[in-house]
Amino acid sequence: MHELDQAIRVCVKCPLHESRTHAVPGEGPVPSDVFILGEAPGAQEDKKGRPFVGPSGMILGQLLEVAGLTRQDVYITSCVKCRPPQNRTPHTLELDTCQENWLNRQIDLVDPKVVVLLGRVAISRLLQEEGGLRESHGQAVERDGRLYLMTYHPAAAFRVPETKDSMKQDMAALRRLLVGM
Ligand code: URA
Repeated sequence: MHELDQAIRVCVKCPLHESRTHAVPGEGPVPSDVFILGEAPGAQEDKKGRPFVGPSGMILGQLLEVAGLTRQDVYITSCVKCRPPQNRTPHTLELDTCQENWLNRQIDLVDPKVVVLLGRVAISRLLQEEGGLRESHGQAVERDGRLYLMTYHPAAAFRVPETKDSMKQDMAALRRLLVGM
């Protein structure tokens, strides 16, 4: 994983490298039972080169507590490793490039039992599912021997505060899944 991290930090495979300050490979134990997947680094992450260290990271920390976990227990990364300009949604080419070169290899190395998909972009990338989260949040889908748990992106809680309650329910579901493994 160390070699992969180094390669990600100097990656120029898609146009997102042009506007980044730091690439954000990811962090956490390897292997790990739980792999947390966000969308893209934000301003704080871009500044520090670490995932989920801004406002979304604060919420993620609270949610992990509900699952009986801390940041140190899980591997955390995002679908693309460089911050898109003005925090726009990553383009398909950027997502494809990052997934083929880095994300798929990270998942193989971490070899998690559960991948927690934070938000629409992560869900559509790994499950090719486009349905509304209002119906599908908290559901776990099995693919290739792993579980993929769908939930909201923590940033959604800033726009719609009730989302945090739904995410807490989903983290309680994660806790039950892990106890049963
Ligand atoms: N949002 C993400 O999806 N990833 C981060 O690292 C930070 C915010």
